[in-house]
Amino acid sequence: MDKGLLVVVSGPSGVGKGTICNALREKYPELVYSVSATTRPMREGEVEGVNYFFLSKEDFLAKIEAGAFLEWAEVYGNFYGTPKWIIDAQLAAGNHVLLEIDMQGAVQVKKAYPESVLVFILPPSEEELAKRLSGRGTDSADVIAKRLACWQQEKEMLKHYDYAVVNDTVSQAVERVSHIITAEECSVERM
Ligand code: ADP
Ligand code: 5GP
Repeated sequence: MDKGLLVVVSGPSGVGKGTICNALREKYPELVYSVSATTRPMREGEVEGVNYFFLSKEDFLAKIEAGAFLEWAEVYGNFYGTPKWIIDAQLAAGNHVLLEIDMQGAVQVKKAYPESVLVFILPPSEEELAKRLSGRGTDSADVIAKRLACWQQEKEMLKHYDYAVVNDTVSQAVERVSHIITAEECSVERM
């Protein structure tokens, strides 16, 4: 393979994408994690440039105008975007890039990069998704209700994906995503 794989992990808020991506990054230190830009306020414990690039709405809109994002979306009332220049440089250097983005963004990435690998992370049940969202303790009851309501439409996006992985236990979910990466590395089409 000359170019790296663009692996897109997405799914509803609270399903465990961040947890799975952190475990993948530990397992594969060579995997490049794309840091997104956002207009959402910084949460406690988050670090600029590590979790996100935190931008004002004005700066974010200027970057959209300048064509700086591979994709961007308004998710739960805030803007999020993937910096295009970082992704292109890493893929060209032969590195695999991991994106953790929402479902609208994933579909945009697939359109721009048909060779990208889209993985949908599913909750074992809706009750468990609600439990994880409130158990995380980072969002207000209002925000949680908004995110759970979105899941009813978000499910419809599954048909645009290449793979679906149920996050029952973190270790099993990480193993499944690892196997997907291995299978894609062995794909004849990519050679
Ligand atoms: P997302 O990034 O999809 O919004 P997080 O990774 O923040 O979700 O996970 C939401 C909450 O669910 C966190 O408190 C996390 O520790 C927990 N969690 C993630 N995966 C599992 C799992 N397989 N079983 C139980 N709890 C999980
Ligand atoms: P959070 O605010 O919980 O960090 O993220 C909210 C949602 O935004 C999650 O579903 C996350 O995957 C998504 N997200 C994070 N970065 C990006 C991005 O660059 N683009 C898009 N489209 N969604 C993103």
